Amino acid sequence: MDRQDPLAPFQDRFVPIKDPNVVAYLDGNSLGRPLHRTLEVVQELVTSQWSSRMIRGWQEGWLHLPERIGDLLGGAALGAEPGQVILADSTSVCLYKALHAALSLRPGRCEIVTDTDNFPTDRYIVESIARDKGLMVRWIESDPAAGVTAQQVIDALSDRTAVVTLSHVAYRSAYIADMRAINEAVHAAGAMVVWDLCHTVGSVPVHLDATDSDFAVGCTYKFLNAGPGAPAFIYVRSEHQPTLAQPIPGWMSAADLYAMAPEYRAAPGIRAMLSGTPAITGLAGVMAGVELLSEAGIEQVRAKSTDLTRLAIALSDAWLTPLGFTLASPRDDALRGGHVTVSHPRAEELARILIDSGVIIDFRAPDGIRIGLSPLSTSFTGLWTALDRTRILASEALA
Ligand SMILES: *Cc1c(COP(=O)(O)O)cnc(C)c1O
Repeated sequence: MDRQDPLAPFQDRFVPIKDPNVVAYLDGNSLGRPLHRTLEVVQELVTSQWSSRMIRGWQEGWLHLPERIGDLLGGAALGAEPGQVILADSTSVCLYKALHAALSLRPGRCEIVTDTDNFPTDRYIVESIARDKGLMVRWIESDPAAGVTAQQVIDALSDRTAVVTLSHVAYRSAYIADMRAINEAVHAAGAMVVWDLCHTVGSVPVHLDATDSDFAVGCTYKFLNAGPGAPAFIYVRSEHQPTLAQPIPGWMSAADLYAMAPEYRAAPGIRAMLSGTPAITGLAGVMAGVELLSEAGIEQVRAKSTDLTRLAIALSDAWLTPLGFTLASPRDDALRGGHVTVSHPRAEELARILIDSGVIIDFRAPDGIRIGLSPLSTSFTGLWTALDRTRILASEALA
């Protein structure tokens, strides 16, 4: 499979893993590995832009880097025409802004819909906004080994619904929500959708424009390999941009940045979603990650991702099921994103043993072990070796 893999040469674009004890890195869905190119762009930023141009750097490109990279990312991975994506803050903060902005377009409605197994930061922010604005949260009870279905969303909708917010790829199971059907149902009820694409972007292609999505947010340090804590992105459908209000208007989102005006007037377009000064060093890593994805092509990445997760499931069926593991991700390729979760009653202890022995996976409470498969940096042989090691270590530990 490695010999036939058209993306195999991309593994050389990553800085080799320095730790000799690492057998395989299967957690690129939590933190992608560093690119050689990131070193170059950060070096270039420090030595020739920042150190020689200094404050003039803002006028010579930095100021508009957030929307420039946003346009590239929109085209490479999100199915978004230019002018609708911008890099800013963290996903948590972008989600806070997007939810407020969506709510500002649906005054008089009193419910936010989300699901019980949504990522913690999403649930906490939804609850906090509901508390502050006197809204109600309508919880969809989602299956942790699957995800939210369009029918469950339809059942939760009413003329009270203002906003529905869901993760497109579930962080626990990798279940892919039906974006088109859910958008359609939510719009039929007169409400707005805010998608969290953290486990989607750089792994599963989406078509935000074509599916009529309203808002989306996501992070860049997972499958985009932009580096720990690199800025997040926010998508706002162009038709919503002129009328929305966002909750952290700052000087960077103002119409005239240097007017220092007594009153705030929002910038036209997607810049209205900014707040403060963009993190240029972090954006350098995002640029490197987005360029790499763009070169590889999201459809090719998705094809390899599907092959990797399918192999992980086949090996897990053969080697791990007899040891008491169960698959906690969809078997249907079309419903499964870029990672595979297996559960085991002693998962926490087993995860610690695996990580200590150089098989870097992650544990998700209460009983999940996630095998993350970042297509640009992971080989089929590496996956095989890691699961072979898992089989041996788990049978020793459970004997
Ligand atoms: C990783 C992840 C986040 C992280 O948000 P940060 O603000 O970057 O910490 C949010 N949502 C989902 C679904 C994630 O997978």
